[in-house]
Amino acid sequence: MRESCTEGLSEFTKNMNHEIVDAAVFSITASDLLEYLFCPRFTYFELYLGIPEHEERRFKVRKGRTIHEDKAKINPDYLRKKIGCIDRKKSVYLSSPKGIRGIIDEVLFLNDGSIAALDYKYAEYKEVTFKNHQYQLTLYSQLIHEHFHMPVNRGFIIYTRSNNKLVEVPISERMYANLDIIIEDILNVVQKGMYPEATKYKARCLDCCYKNICEKVI
Ligand code: SF4
Repeated sequence: MRESCTEGLSEFTKNMNHEIVDAAVFSITASDLLEYLFCPRFTYFELYLGIPEHEERRFKVRKGRTIHEDKAKINPDYLRKKIGCIDRKKSVYLSSPKGIRGIIDEVLFLNDGSIAALDYKYAEYKEVTFKNHQYQLTLYSQLIHEHFHMPVNRGFIIYTRSNNKLVEVPISERMYANLDIIIEDILNVVQKGMYPEATKYKARCLDCCYKNICEKVI
């Protein structure tokens, strides 16, 4: 199954003007992680085969601008006080030898001696923190733990479309261990070209920009 699928793609990809991913020095961003959790095969098409996903890129740029404008208006000092924040750093870029990197909206220094990542989401809070957002925070937590050498056992999300609701997300040892597995899986796809399974959530394929070239198991 795997071979036949990649062979079928070879003609399609042969003439494409690829955005080359340097697999040897590849390091995983939060966006890469979110896309992999959306569908591992999406990562294969985008980052291993280098097939551009134009529409999504445009959407991301638009979304990025909107949230930037929103962040400029938000000053949730009262929220930070509520969680015992005594200091903070904004827009912190960090990378790790584990093969991950990212810009953390805020690093909060808390009065219990721990630190935490704060991430803004241009989204409504739906009474649950989705797995992809939990692991994005885990990635940020790993980065700040390695850099500041302080305990990180929770993260925070502000949902800007729910009146700036602040949600605390526990970051457990199990989540750090799972992140390590996800990182290894992503690097296996991007660096070794391992052909991953399709998402089991069929609805995701409907809006996927790779649906016409993907041999979906649906
Ligand atoms: S079409 Fe479905 S299975 Fe294929 S890459 Fe897109 S989301 Fe994944």
